[in-house]
Amino acid sequence: MSQQVIVLGKEEMNRLMKHYENNKIHRNAPGVVFAAKLNDTAITVYKSGKVLFQGAGSTREAAGWSGSDLPAKAAGIKTKTQGDTMPPNLANLSIVGSDETGTGDFFGPITVCACFVRNEQIELVKELGVKDSKQLTDDWMRQIAPDLKETLLYSVLTLKNDKYNEVQEKGWSQGKIKALLHNQALKHVLRKMGDEKPEYILIDQFAERGIYYNHLKAAPEIVRENVLFSTKAEGLHVAVAAASIIARVAFLEEMDRLSSLTGFQLPKGAGPKVDEAAARILLSQGENTLKSLSKWHFANREKAMKIAARKKK
Ligand code: MG
Repeated sequence: MSQQVIVLGKEEMNRLMKHYENNKIHRNAPGVVFAAKLNDTAITVYKSGKVLFQGAGSTREAAGWSGSDLPAKAAGIKTKTQGDTMPPNLANLSIVGSDETGTGDFFGPITVCACFVRNEQIELVKELGVKDSKQLTDDWMRQIAPDLKETLLYSVLTLKNDKYNEVQEKGWSQGKIKALLHNQALKHVLRKMGDEKPEYILIDQFAERGIYYNHLKAAPEIVRENVLFSTKAEGLHVAVAAASIIARVAFLEEMDRLSSLTGFQLPKGAGPKVDEAAARILLSQGENTLKSLSKWHFANREKAMKIAARKKK
């Protein structure tokens, strides 16, 4: 579908809405202040002043307004990536994206989300505040995640610490754990989509294709069709950025729950603050409790034990 995006100032935005008043339609979507439909063009005006023209007449209609054209680059942030060669128009396609978080944190789960963004939802998703999630704060992600969940088809999986430690002790690598979770989340989303198919599935690459599928060897159903891998994929399509935000918020929510069990805010990451917090839990609640809150094989465990032993003396 052909589309044009322009950004208008307040005054011109009002002129535009007046101009299309007779073609006004009701569209109840977050961030949308006005929508109109012509024979060959759909027009959507967003709170921010962004106006989206879609359909065969989009170039003609957009040309009548003097808004600044968004550079084509704005659709996808250019960064150096590894993985498959992407289709040139990837940022404008209907994509299922997937990403995970929590893998480097001693406390808390691993979460994975897969999320479908249909091409006509791309502007809306951006309007809701989705950017490359590496540029977003946790607070901002908590704010926008509910709108994303409302708007998009998604599946988010939380692998809690007990289960993580169990499979880790069976010898599963983090790569294998992540591959199985991604595959599972992708299957769920594809099932929710029914007969609709994404143009591509884009996985934020944590392992190369061969290694990824090798991890899935024994999985009952493996998602293979039109799958692309790229590092930094959250900058290539908003579906991965949205998946990354939903996964992150699921991680934060589980961290909140675990923090309420310990009675203080558990720190993220795997640094010295984490060692201190882990030692505090060891001394007050013991080893089993600490294990149930953490990725037990991380080096933080040993460090915490040393700190706790020193404090006991
Ligand atoms: Mg990732």
